[in-house]
Amino acid sequence: MNFAGELMALPEEVVPLNDPESGLTGIIVLHSTRLGPAAGGCRLWNYSSATKAAEDAMRLARGMTFKNALAGLPLGGGKAVIRQPDRPFDRDALFRAFGRAIETLDGRYLTAEDVGTTVGDMEIIAHQTRHVAGRKPKPGLPGGDPSPWTARGVFEAMQVAVELHLGASLAGLTVGVQGLGNVGFALCELLHEAGAKLMVAELNSAVAARAAVRFGAHVLTSEALIDARIDVLAPCALGGTIDFVAVGRLRARVICGAANNQLFHDDIGRVLADRGILYAPDYLVNAGGIINVAGEHFGWAQTTVSDGVAAIGPRLREVLGRANDSGLLPLQAAEAVALSRIEAVRGRHVLAA
Ligand code: NAD
Repeated sequence: MNFAGELMALPEEVVPLNDPESGLTGIIVLHSTRLGPAAGGCRLWNYSSATKAAEDAMRLARGMTFKNALAGLPLGGGKAVIRQPDRPFDRDALFRAFGRAIETLDGRYLTAEDVGTTVGDMEIIAHQTRHVAGRKPKPGLPGGDPSPWTARGVFEAMQVAVELHLGASLAGLTVGVQGLGNVGFALCELLHEAGAKLMVAELNSAVAARAAVRFGAHVLTSEALIDARIDVLAPCALGGTIDFVAVGRLRARVICGAANNQLFHDDIGRVLADRGILYAPDYLVNAGGIINVAGEHFGWAQTTVSDGVAAIGPRLREVLGRANDSGLLPLQAAEAVALSRIEAVRGRHVLAA
């Protein structure tokens, strides 16, 4: 098997999490450490089975390998998934146990926030291990919740996507934002400032109402957002929302959002292209948060992080250019660039070089 093929195969290491005292169950997946520690956030979620949790962690960890390589970071790819205990639990004890598990990996895995986890959780983990980022920021240095950086990167990418595909700027376009959590709400802020009209879908009706008041956003259900007359869809909830049903109904011409694994199946990329819908690869556009995590972990200046996040737009332009020239789908072109960087770089530091 060639190197690229090797990378597509199984993860390097899988670590089950099981601490009966705190109720911690789940999994850490180290997909690749070829470019550096396997880095990727920790998700706390209510999975219906251990298999579902493991499948999610595997897919997310692999995505992190490609995301970190494409962003030019000296990081491999990994992910941790913790199953939400089905009875009341001591959150501090749970994250202390998780921190102890990370410490046994000797720096091969670097964690941070993901869906369901907070800066406070990272502070608890930090009592057990130094291999954690997304902690309270020190003045003038990278750190804290990575979400605003993720939102900024998605915004940079979206500007490029609409310019290339619609020949337009965001002002006056209608963007549908699905999920108004840490990233989605911050993205709405940026889009509103840029003069975009907003349609939003959010399970938490109080948050949706806040967006209606603050941004004049039109609130819909997630289902209705797929059918709505929007120019851009920004999936910012969980993955898999662009499925075989949605792809036939979608009226947006561009998809560009923060959620990981937005396409329910890779084949959907072809259907989107056939329908003339531009799909901005998720792991390219949502790298802002991990760039900030890298900056915190490696002690970079905040300007290095800002420059890295600003480079997401030009990177999308490069990848879409490559896709156009070679007849590849955007996701395939992104994967090819990531793989070539992994083969070429092998542990050297690209972003701050
Ligand atoms: P979050 O948990 O803060 O927000 C998700 C929001 O989506 C919640 O408000 C939830 O109520 C809403 N939601 C869930 N299902 C929905 C549905 N079917 N319809 C409408 N709303 C729904 O998470 P986040 O940190 O904002 O991350 C959002 C997505 O971006 C996730 O997929 C995450 O993996 C991805 N991501 C986040 C970051 C980051 O820096 N936070 C970085 C990269 C990728």
